[in-house]
Parts: sequence; structure tokens; C-alpha cells
Amino acid sequence: MEKTYDLIIIGAGPAGITAAIYAARKKMDCLVVTLDIGGQAAWSGDIENYTGYQFVSGIELAAKFEEHVKKYNVEVRENEAVKEICKENGNICVKTEKNSYLSRAVIIASGKKSKTLGATGEEEFKNKGLTYCATCDGPLFEGKKVAVVGGGNSALDAALQLVRIAKEVYVINILDKLGGDAVMREKLEEAKNVTIINGAEVTKILGQKMVGNIVYRKDSKEKELPVQGVFVEIGLIPNSDFATSVNKNEQGEILVDVQTRTNIPGIFAAGDVTSVFEKQIIIAAGEGAKAALKVFRYLAETGEKR
Ligand SMILES: Cc1cc2nc3c(=O)[nH]c(=O)nc-3n(C[C@H](O)[C@H](O)[C@H](O)COP(=O)(O)OP(=O)(O)OC[C@H]3O[C@@H](n4cnc5c(N)ncnc54)[C@H](O)[C@@H]3O)c2cc1C
Repeated sequence: MEKTYDLIIIGAGPAGITAAIYAARKKMDCLVVTLDIGGQAAWSGDIENYTGYQFVSGIELAAKFEEHVKKYNVEVRENEAVKEICKENGNICVKTEKNSYLSRAVIIASGKKSKTLGATGEEEFKNKGLTYCATCDGPLFEGKKVAVVGGGNSALDAALQLVRIAKEVYVINILDKLGGDAVMREKLEEAKNVTIINGAEVTKILGQKMVGNIVYRKDSKEKELPVQGVFVEIGLIPNSDFATSVNKNEQGEILVDVQTRTNIPGIFAAGDVTSVFEKQIIIAAGEGAKAALKVFRYLAETGEKR
């Protein structure tokens, strides 16, 4: 007979990993199904607001998260994308492209992914000079000219990483001034190799085999900049498409109450994929802890566990 877990956690970013640690400590029979370990936390260059660490890089923090969860007896299935969740005889089924699993409860902690630009050439030059992750791909552009598209915190973070690596960094922002945190804006404005182009919309990415130019429209005129790298940093959308039965807000974020419950009994959600106020590592981790503790109570209350 197919095994039924106490809990399946979808995603292994700060929310999912923290939920897994709490679940393991409550001796729940738990499976984590995820695309990767670390999530967006691994994309961040410098993290200076996670309590206990005055400074840690995203990659280091993600490695710490992984080390911590692996101390416990938690089954983790990596490189598996959840495609569907459904109710089946009182349990919840979680379907990936490879497998189908059953559980008494589920925590959706699938976070967010980068928005795409929609500019001509974006698809063609993806991973050929065009990328969505400065932390992952920034080192490939040492001494080169690059453009960061965006004007919020993600773009500022990417540009701050790139000014240390690239020869020249152009920040192309559709709005009339940069957004994001004042501290980050000030740091960026101090950099000598950065040019900020406000009020400009990127229309095309050009090149031969690799990115060669970026085209933007400003004051109704098209201009072309020679760059070897384009970093698209225009915001994020929730990874919630597979969760068709749960209620969401207009942005596609899963609606949860203060106890991380969705509208479907047995399905909980935590972190950036939810409507919870503010998206930060410490908030996602806290929500993940709350969700696992809530599942523990839910299983006890519904007589599902021991
Ligand atoms: C560039 C950047 C810099 C940042 N800097 C900071 C910072 O300095 N300080 C701070 O506090 N916060 C920062 N953040 C925000 C922080 O990273 C997020 O708030 C946090 O990672 C959210 O955690 P999460 O677990 O909810 O989701 P995520 O980190 O997005 O993790 C989601 C997980 O779900 C998995 N997943 C997604 N879809 C599926 C699917 N269909 N099936 C299975 N698995 C799936 C992913 O592989 C991943 O493991 C930054 C974010 C970015 C993008």
C-alpha cells in the first residue's frame, strides 16, 4: 500500500527548511519535496538582517540551513517540481512530474520566482548572457559591462554585487527614481562604475550567440548600450499555480490566517508564497516554524496522529 506521510512540505527555502526542522523535532513522519535547497535566500549577496548574523552571504546561510535540516531524519526529494495537490479519501495527494505522494497534511512553502521582462530576445538569450540571479551568475561577468534591469531591492542587491565584479554597471529603471531601501540606494550611488538610467523601458536584447547589446526606450527614443550581461531584477511572482484549490489574493499569494491555515483543512502555507505581510528570510523562517507546530496540533486534534 502507498505510504501516507504525516506531513509533506513543498519547498526548501527558509520557510520549508524551518518547518522541516520543527516537524522532525516533533517526530512527524515528514517528506520535503523541492526544486532546490535554500530558495531565494541563496540568491542574496549580503544578508545583514538575519538575527545572530551581522553579515552572512546568501550562499553561506543556505548551506547552514541545509546542514541543519540534514542533522535530522527528514526525507528530502530535490529536483522535483510539484505540479498538483488534491484531496484523496481525506488525505492530500502531492503530484510531481516524477511521483505521487500521500500525506495527512501539507505545508506549501514554495516561495517566489523572478518575473520575466517580456522584451524581444529575452527567451533567446536566457543563460547566454541574460540571467535572473546575480549571486549565481555575477562572477561570470568579471571585468565586463553589464546592465541590471529594475529599480527595487532585488535590482539594488544585484547591482551592489556587480559593481565589485563588473567593469561597468548600468541600472535601467522604468520608473523616474530608484525604489528599495535607502541604505542600499546610498551604497549604490557611492559606486564609481555605476550609471543609473531612470525612466527607461527595455525593449530588446540583441547579440550573435551571446548578449551583445541592450535596447531601451527613453523619452520616446530608442537607445542601444553595448553590454555582455543582462540581469533581470524586476520583481517576483508566487509559485502557487499548482495549488488550484486554495484561496489566493490578486497577486496569486495564498491567503492564510495567523495560524498559517488556508481555506482547505490539512493544507497550510508559509513564507513568501503567502499573503503574509513582508517577504524576508526571518519572517519566512518564523512562518515555517509556526506552520509545522500548527500541523502537529492539527494532526493531534483530528486524531490523525498518535
Ligand atoms: C536578490 C534577493 C535578495 C534578498 N535579500 C534578502 C536579505 O538580505 N534579507 C532578507 O531577510 N531577505 C532577503 N530576500 C528575501 C528572502 O530571500 C525571501 O523572503 C525568503 O527566501 C523567502 O523564503 P521562502 O522559504 O518563503 O521561499 P523561497 O526562498 O522562495 O523558497 C522556495 C522553495 O520552494 C521551492 N519550489 C518552488 N516551486 C516549487 C514547486 N513547484 N515544487 C517544489 N518546490 C518548489 C524552491 O526550489 C525553493 O526551495 C532577498 C530576496 C532576493 C530575491
